[in-house]
Amino acid sequence: MSSTVRERALEIVAEIGPGFRERAAGYDRDARFPFENYADLRDAGLLGLCVPVAHGGMGCGYRDYMHVAAALGRWCPMTALTYNMHTQTVLWTGVVADDLAMVPATRERHEAIRGALYRSIVEDGAIQSQPLSEGIAKGATTGVTTTATPVEGGWSVSGRKIFASLAGAAHAYNLTCVVPGEEEIRFLSVAADNPGVEIVGTWDTLGMRGTDSRDLVFRDAFVPYSAELLPAGIYGQLAARWPYVYMTLTPAYVGLIDAVVEFVQGYLRGGAPPGIVARRDVGPKQWAWAEIQIMAERARAIWERAVDEAAVDPTPAMLRRAWVASYSVMETAQEVAAKAIRVCGGTTIMKRFPLEQHYRDARCGALMLPWSAEVCLDRLGRFGLFDE
Ligand SMILES: Cc1cc2nc3c(=O)[nH]c(=O)nc-3n(C[C@H](O)[C@H](O)[C@H](O)COP(=O)(O)OP(=O)(O)OC[C@H]3O[C@@H](n4cnc5c(N)ncnc54)[C@H](O)[C@@H]3O)c2cc1C
Repeated sequence: MSSTVRERALEIVAEIGPGFRERAAGYDRDARFPFENYADLRDAGLLGLCVPVAHGGMGCGYRDYMHVAAALGRWCPMTALTYNMHTQTVLWTGVVADDLAMVPATRERHEAIRGALYRSIVEDGAIQSQPLSEGIAKGATTGVTTTATPVEGGWSVSGRKIFASLAGAAHAYNLTCVVPGEEEIRFLSVAADNPGVEIVGTWDTLGMRGTDSRDLVFRDAFVPYSAELLPAGIYGQLAARWPYVYMTLTPAYVGLIDAVVEFVQGYLRGGAPPGIVARRDVGPKQWAWAEIQIMAERARAIWERAVDEAAVDPTPAMLRRAWVASYSVMETAQEVAAKAIRVCGGTTIMKRFPLEQHYRDARCGALMLPWSAEVCLDRLGRFGLFDE
């Protein structure tokens, strides 16, 4: 997509972002979903960032999305993280699906289904979520036990999803499931007001507290044929041919790194936040500040390279860079946040500063499946050493 649209989106983020930053501590303290931020995103047209222009959206693609989401993350990482779940459904059904093989009749049907999805986002401000995780096996990449049993006019969905960000905030829960007797994974949309959906448990966590990622239980939730967001077999193709979709959890943490760097600079210079005495003359603090910049720039560089080359059917070398980039961002976020507290000093563990929240939020990045830091290490550790 043209950089002009990206630039426009980045300008919008710069306008609404300061409000996000102001509200971040409150969402974190109360573990409350950032509804006000979503109202701003909706009013600014950013819910439709990746909706095609022909459907009333801004028409951004994958790379634009990654950069815009990172910019959002600088103002509020938790909002950027949930914005990812929303935008993924649009990307998967949109530019990603365009790159995947479908027979003409299937594509025509998909076109009609995604058209309705995009209308709901652009016209009604419908927020999408993607509860995929079930926690039934080590690594959410394998094993889906949520079932979609064929019934007249569609499916009856039953199962449980864990860590369902936007629980209670989204208008639709777009989930992975299997039809009993079939191998392939389906991608169906369950309306949030479906009587077969229940939000259970609590979300009282170390970090990313505003994501409201409570569990969802589905009991015989009816899903019509028209809510099959990817045609049968396409989810498997997407996972195999467009693996960059799994990198989309990183921008929230790229933005978080930027926020930390910005804070440390202001703090050491003195005056930002107001009333803080400059500490820039202290040698060890200068060296740590130098290290923070090096860590941040390194992570950003490999991330930008992987994002900018993202495309269908990546080569093994591209895939390796994508894993290195994901690992680097998620690990660097928590390393930088930890170092920032050491450099800035004890005052910054106080809740009136954003650093302790960044420190806790940053800790969540490496855990995020399917490309958690450990999964990336596991794959990179075997990369090139065996024939397969
Ligand atoms: C803030 C937050 C928001 C989230 N939002 C969503 C959401 O909206 N939708 C959604 O679907 N999920 C979401 N998740 C869920 C997330 O991706 C995981 O599914 C979740 O963290 C649960 O993991 P687990 O405890 O079952 O990890 P396990 O699967 O038990 O894994 C435990 C550890 O083992 C490692 N590991 C697992 N498998 C492998 C492997 N094959 N090789 C090497 N190491 C491995 C993992 O890295 C992890 O550190 C969210 C998570 C967080 C933290």
